[in-house]
Amino acid sequence: MLSKIIEEEDIDTAKRLIYNANHIVVTAHISPDGDAVGSTLGLYHFLTKIGKDAVVILPNRFPAFLNWMPGSDKIVIMEEKTAETVSLMKAADLVFCVDYNSIDRINGLKPLMEQSKAKKIMIDHHPYPGDFCDVTISYPEISSASELVFRFICRMGYFQEITLEGAECIYTGMMTDTGGFTYNSNSAEIYSIIYELINKGIDKDAIYRRVFNTYSADRMKLMGYCLSKMVVMPEEHTAYIVLTQEEKRRFNYKVGDTEGFVNMPLQIEGICKSVFVREDTDKVKLSFRSQGDVPVNTWAAEFGGGGHLNAAGGESYLSLEETIKKLVEIIKRDK
Ligand code: 5GP
Ligand code: MN
Repeated sequence: MLSKIIEEEDIDTAKRLIYNANHIVVTAHISPDGDAVGSTLGLYHFLTKIGKDAVVILPNRFPAFLNWMPGSDKIVIMEEKTAETVSLMKAADLVFCVDYNSIDRINGLKPLMEQSKAKKIMIDHHPYPGDFCDVTISYPEISSASELVFRFICRMGYFQEITLEGAECIYTGMMTDTGGFTYNSNSAEIYSIIYELINKGIDKDAIYRRVFNTYSADRMKLMGYCLSKMVVMPEEHTAYIVLTQEEKRRFNYKVGDTEGFVNMPLQIEGICKSVFVREDTDKVKLSFRSQGDVPVNTWAAEFGGGGHLNAAGGESYLSLEETIKKLVEIIKRDK
């Protein structure tokens, strides 16, 4: 039996909103990861199963290694289908905001969300939830939004309505946001949920292979290259990797290819903070990871971002050189 973490009142209100809704839109954050896609699709499969008209809208495309996920072909990508997104958002009478805590995390969708008269329900696990939803289901101690979606559906009394497809999506999000259950994964209840998902028929080993063992040769070579140019700062217990635009071109970089690279330096003994810096066309993207009770969301905040204690991200609009200089100063300061 799972502990009842979600407030009874929120469950009752959400259930009524779903019952009364005719057009439901489910959204997640920019640069969607496994948890963003898994949690939104998990909810989507449930909503369609109970006969609701539902659609998932994401601000931009998710990485290709998630293309196998059931329902992923029906996701509307705003950057690619702007007109369709506008009409779906206008028609919506209920919008779910999943795996993000701030309206600033959805880029192009933000104005449509602000104009929308639909009721809004947040299901998220990032600290400091913003105040833009009618129902805010926010639990930072839960390791994935997908786990919260499972708990949300069960608490409404709809466990039977979780289909195999929905279970596969929920499992994928739980797995990716915990690095294959290697961090933020000590809660025993995670494994009682996995028990239920396996009973629904998921093949967890196959999902692992589909997500983690289907990379391109280019990506593997890029990984080796990134490791070879990693900078280790032993006294600061920190390591960082920088990847330039030119290097991305050299390795035929595709969206998602650097996913997970930021975790690699943490395998070095004595290193508890890691940063991956990637030069994009319009900005420099920074990913931060740490182990134990060492925060990195404070570092992300210095680059206009945020996230969790051990996993956070931010962006820099300085040049790559200036960004690295600023980063190294912060690393040395917080030694
Ligand atoms: P990643 O490094 O995988 O892109 O992101 C790690 C975590 O930090 C995710 O949970 C994500 O929600 C958060 N995050 C990443 N980039 C940003 C950002 O630019 N702003 C904020 N507020 N959070 C971010
Ligand atoms: Mn998440």
